Amino acid sequence: MKPEASMVHGPKASLPATRPALTPAAPKDLPSVDRLLRDPAVALLVAAHGHALVAAQARELLDAWRAEALQGQLPKERLDGIAQALRERCDARLTPRMRRVINLTGTVLHTNLGRALLADAALQQVLACMGSPNNLEFDLAQGARGDRDSLVEDLLCEITGAEAATVVNNNAAAVLLGIAALAGGGREVIVSRGELVEIGGAFRMPDVMAAAGAKLVEVGTTNRTHPKDYEAAIGPATALLVKVHTSNYAIQGFTSSVDEATLAPIAKAHGLPLMTDLGSGSLVDLAQWGLPAEPLPQQMLKDGCDVVTFSGDKLLGGPQAGLIVGTREHIQRIRKFPMKRALRLSKLPLAALEATLRLYLKPDRLTQDLPTLRHLTRPVAHIEAQAARLLGPLRQAVAPRFEVRAASMRGQIGSGSLPVETLPSAGLALAPVLPGKRGMGRALDDLQAALRSLPLPIVARVQADELWMDLRCLDEGPREAEFLAQLPSLAEALR
Ligand SMILES: *Cc1c(COP(=O)(O)O)cnc(C)c1O
Repeated sequence: MKPEASMVHGPKASLPATRPALTPAAPKDLPSVDRLLRDPAVALLVAAHGHALVAAQARELLDAWRAEALQGQLPKERLDGIAQALRERCDARLTPRMRRVINLTGTVLHTNLGRALLADAALQQVLACMGSPNNLEFDLAQGARGDRDSLVEDLLCEITGAEAATVVNNNAAAVLLGIAALAGGGREVIVSRGELVEIGGAFRMPDVMAAAGAKLVEVGTTNRTHPKDYEAAIGPATALLVKVHTSNYAIQGFTSSVDEATLAPIAKAHGLPLMTDLGSGSLVDLAQWGLPAEPLPQQMLKDGCDVVTFSGDKLLGGPQAGLIVGTREHIQRIRKFPMKRALRLSKLPLAALEATLRLYLKPDRLTQDLPTLRHLTRPVAHIEAQAARLLGPLRQAVAPRFEVRAASMRGQIGSGSLPVETLPSAGLALAPVLPGKRGMGRALDDLQAALRSLPLPIVARVQADELWMDLRCLDEGPREAEFLAQLPSLAEALR
């Protein structure tokens, strides 16, 4: 049995009315651990997994069954299946908690579903280098100690036009480190009140400032900040000006903010560095595919920023990482700051990041080779054609409890990117077949639970009394075949 199959929990079949009376087993009917381990079927398990795991699981199983027997609730007939029950326990124990799922939410960079998917090149690089010693911090040309940053620094500089670059664990770490290195020790950092963002979790700009040991100086108002606000706030204790991209919200209406190109000369005139946190920060102009434009790190550097930070696993399409690019002087200060050692990127994402960045050397292939861009640029006509292909098989699997129709949908880029914009998409909408609206919520909950219990769980979203499967992120070919392969289990779970 495949381990995944043991994870299927379909709704329990109802018991026939004329159920034969079962004889309860007594605790003394249960075998001892030793005797159970000598059972030939269990001996095979021991041969596969070793004595320790199987014996521990046998002990737990017998404890649980003994408790049931003491209550008179263990049918004697169940004892015949004890070896099988033990096998299932061992399989469940060995099944990884982290599992693949099918993302039909319509959100391409879904934070709860692992954000960006790695490109094949990145997966291969991880596989090739992680099971073997490698030159992580070894300079092969000189035969001397090397710096792990050097694996990606040239690439990042070439792609963004920066003088220098370094990488850390994630963008939150990049922001924390940048502020601590450039303005720690109680020095002042000036930020607009319109940019004091909360990213989710515990990442709130005022708290990050405090954690970095800097003193936050707020300027402007929530909706309007002007150059003169920054000018007025600069004083002898000022160490840094920070801009934060408001990636997960938009302020609309009577607004004004000071962009980097305007702020840079002000910073320069006072001899202060300017740092900008882009959040997502795409390395290529998304507008060329009709997608909403996101600020480019290369433009921010041209506009005069000294330090630019952005994420590895948002629009860049790589592993979790925080990228910091900027002037040689400021990147050097950041790299030398002791906190860098605690936040450094591990070799595993570093391998994936290098391979992902290398894909940017072939920009015209990105929409094929980089899953994030492939999904974001997938033509709606292709998604519609896929919906038409899958409609019949899905209809058959969920009948008679649900009706299915092909529908236009609007998805999202996700991960806080471009919150106002949506992506035109297509997919399948499932509606419960009910006499009225009663039981609607329950039917949709059951359907979602059935989808989550599949060998390869499917995550979709509920919208307007229907379950929407947005197909944007379901690649054609093997991935589509995997979706179809779930349908028999789905039919079973809904029976
Ligand atoms: C997402 C985001 C972060 C945090 O980046 P992680 O890579 O998730 O740590 C920080 N700042 C902004 C503006 C963001 O959008």
